[in-house]
Amino acid sequence: MSRKEKIIDYFNSLDRSLFMDINKDLAVVDTALPIGYGQTISQPSLVLEMTVLLNPEEDSKILEIGTGSGYQTALLSTFSGTVFTVERIHELYDKTKIRLENMGFDNVYFKLDDGTMGWEQFAPFDRIMVTAAARFIPPSLLEQLAPRGIMVIPVGGSNYQELLVIKKDSEGKVSTECKGYVKFVPLIGRYE
Ligand code: SAH
Repeated sequence: MSRKEKIIDYFNSLDRSLFMDINKDLAVVDTALPIGYGQTISQPSLVLEMTVLLNPEEDSKILEIGTGSGYQTALLSTFSGTVFTVERIHELYDKTKIRLENMGFDNVYFKLDDGTMGWEQFAPFDRIMVTAAARFIPPSLLEQLAPRGIMVIPVGGSNYQELLVIKKDSEGKVSTECKGYVKFVPLIGRYE
């Protein structure tokens, strides 16, 4: 099985309702759903697509911005070395940390903070996944992306965003590709 097939296989086996407290009966529907606090769990097909675009490797160190329900985190945790995930809403941070720990995901570090500033202490990261809509690429995140690193981030206005794949080569040169259009809840933070 290729790595992509393994990701798809695991994704198909992962019950989305385990990451939800409300609307559990709708978990099988391929749509974003409310998880409280004005936030949403992304639609499954998009979580899979973004994971494949991020192309995590077995030993990748990943920074995730927007822990939310932990659904995306679970996929990243399974297909990487370590995940550093940041969430700004303390109720979601608390709930999801306990949830993922209870489910046995033991390579995930959680932080309650504004993720637009990244996680300096553990930088650089091989992969950066942003699951909230940025108005522009946060400079700190670009700085904290390692050479040969990949970042997946939705960038645009509040109605819709371009799904960008940003690659940094071994010399630090950055290239950007738009992979389609998506709609996420806003990334709220400092972006300096
Ligand atoms: N991947 C999550 C998506 C949750 S929605 C899931 O599938 O459940 C986006 C999340 O990003 C929300 O939980 C929101 O609170 C969080 N968020 C928004 N701005 C943020 C910021 N600056 N830093 C960290 N988290 C942020």
